[in-house]
Amino acid sequence: MEDNGNVLAFGCHPDDIEFMCAGTLSFLRKKGYKIHMATLCGGEKGSMTLSKEKIRSVRLRECEDSAAVLAASYRWAGWEDIEVEFCHELRVRVAKVIREVNPFVVFTLPALDYMVDHEETSKLVRNACFCASVPNFDTEDVPPTKGVPYLYYWDAVESKDWLGRRTPVGFYVDVTSEMETKVKMLSCHRSQRDWLLAQHGIDQYIEYMKEWDRRRGKEAGVGFAESFCQHLAHPFPQDNILKSILGAAVIGVS
Ligand SMILES: [Zn+2]
Repeated sequence: MEDNGNVLAFGCHPDDIEFMCAGTLSFLRKKGYKIHMATLCGGEKGSMTLSKEKIRSVRLRECEDSAAVLAASYRWAGWEDIEVEFCHELRVRVAKVIREVNPFVVFTLPALDYMVDHEETSKLVRNACFCASVPNFDTEDVPPTKGVPYLYYWDAVESKDWLGRRTPVGFYVDVTSEMETKVKMLSCHRSQRDWLLAQHGIDQYIEYMKEWDRRRGKEAGVGFAESFCQHLAHPFPQDNILKSILGAAVIGVS
């Protein structure tokens, strides 16, 4: 698919994107790309005290604040935490977002991760990247896209699968220069950060993210890095367009 300037990061829960790929998004923004962010769920299970509706409204506002840091659009695809499954209704909701944004690059969760919500969202986004271009796939009158976008999976949480095995890394992106922006975006998720701060007495929310990017950075020989794998099955694009756009910041695995 041709470069049309639109990049989409599609997460499952509020803050998934910020933890795993906000540095790379910040980089792409600097290169002139329009960033779009979407989450399938609204963070409904992220509070011990507030109702689902109340915590959702708080967390969707936090997502919007975070997206604003990159002048990005933000969409909630209308589903609820811990209730994600690969079903027709969600296939349509996710494909509708892809059609509305019309991205040529999509980032999403990896196929193997610690939470079933994440894995099902990964499958839904992968499916939507393909079927958004199929004219007879019906998504309430949103026109089909013109092709299949580049699809990238960010890393699994703690870089491991269910059996504790290291998940694969296709390449790293050196995000050392983008860490300030990444921290700013993650800090917008105040409800989660404050809860951990009160509970543990340290700013674990931010420090946890930094620690993992530092580990990936060490593997890549830089200060901080994010890691990705590209979806290379038929008929997805086969070249690594991020390498063309970001140049030396994209570091291969030796
Ligand atoms: Zn999540």
